[in-house]
Amino acid sequence: MHPERSGKRPGSGGHGGGHSGQGRPRAVAGGGGHIARKRFGQNFLVDQGVIAEIVRAIAPKPGEALVEIGPGLGALTDPVVERCEKLTVVELDRDLAARLRKRPELDVIESDVLKVDFAQLARERGVKLRMIGNLPYNISSPILFHLLPCADVVVDQHFMLQKEVVDRMVATPGNKDYSRLSVMLQWRYDMECVVDVPPGSFDPPPKVNSAVVRMTPLAEVPDVDPKVLEAMVAVAFSQRRKILRHTLGAWITQQGITTDFDLQRRAEEVPVAEYLALAAQVRKPA
Ligand code: SAM
Repeated sequence: MHPERSGKRPGSGGHGGGHSGQGRPRAVAGGGGHIARKRFGQNFLVDQGVIAEIVRAIAPKPGEALVEIGPGLGALTDPVVERCEKLTVVELDRDLAARLRKRPELDVIESDVLKVDFAQLARERGVKLRMIGNLPYNISSPILFHLLPCADVVVDQHFMLQKEVVDRMVATPGNKDYSRLSVMLQWRYDMECVVDVPPGSFDPPPKVNSAVVRMTPLAEVPDVDPKVLEAMVAVAFSQRRKILRHTLGAWITQQGITTDFDLQRRAEEVPVAEYLALAAQVRKPA
C-alpha cells in the first residue's frame, strides 16, 4: 500500500547489532535488568547530551497533548513529561508498559502503534496532538504512513529514524535521495532534519546512523486524492533511471488525461507540485 512496505529497504532490521544474539544476554545500561528485544527494534537512547538536544528541538510545554511512540525505558519520556506534565505513551512491550503504568503522569496505551486510532485520540483530547518518538526502525515507514491520514489532527511530529530514511524524506528534486518517500510525505508535511545521532548514543548501538526529523503538516492541504497520488508516484519511480515517457506515459494514457506534463524527464527530476498537479487532473479531466 505504501512505498516502503515491500522489497529490501533501510529500516528492515537496520538498528541491528548489539542485541543478545551471542553469548549471555546483557541488560541495558540503567534499564533495571531489561534485556533489549530485537523484534521490537529496541535500541535505547543513553547519551544525555543527545537526549537534551532532542528535547530542546521538541520544546514541550504544559497543556500540550504530547504522544510518545515507543517510550521504552523512558529516555525521552522523563525529560518530556517533566516539561509538559502529562504524556500519552504507546508501548507494545508488555513488560515496559507494565513499568510505565506505575507512573500517574503517564497515560499508557499498551498496543501496536499501527492499531492506534490517532484521529480518535485527538477527538478525545479535544486538541491537536504533538507526536514524538525514537521509532522502532523495523516499522518506521509503516508508522509514518499510518499517521499520514491523521495529519490534520497533528501539530507536529519529531521522530528519530535511520539517517538514510530521513535523507530520503527531506530530499529535493535532482538529489540522489529524492524518491517515492520524499514525494509521498512532502506533499503533506514540511520537514527538516534537526539532530544527527551516532550509533554510540544508544544501548545496544545500532549499525546505522540516526537522525531526528521534524514534520509539520502543511496548513494548506493540496486538493488531491492520496490514493491516486500514491499510485502515480509508484509508477513514476518504478524505473527511476528511465525517462518518464516509458513509465508514467502509459499511466497518463490509461487515465485519459490531456496534459502538457514533460515526460522527457526522470522521476527524480520532477518537483512535488508537478506530481500533485498531475494527480489532481485525474478527477478533473480537461
Ligand atoms: N524511546 C526509547 C528510547 O529512546 O530509549 C525506546 C526507543 S526503541 C528504538 C523503540 C521502542 O518502541 C521500544 O520501546 C519498543 O518496545 C517500542 N515498540 C516497538 N514496536 C512497537 C509497536 N509496534 N508499537 C508500539 N511500540 C513499539
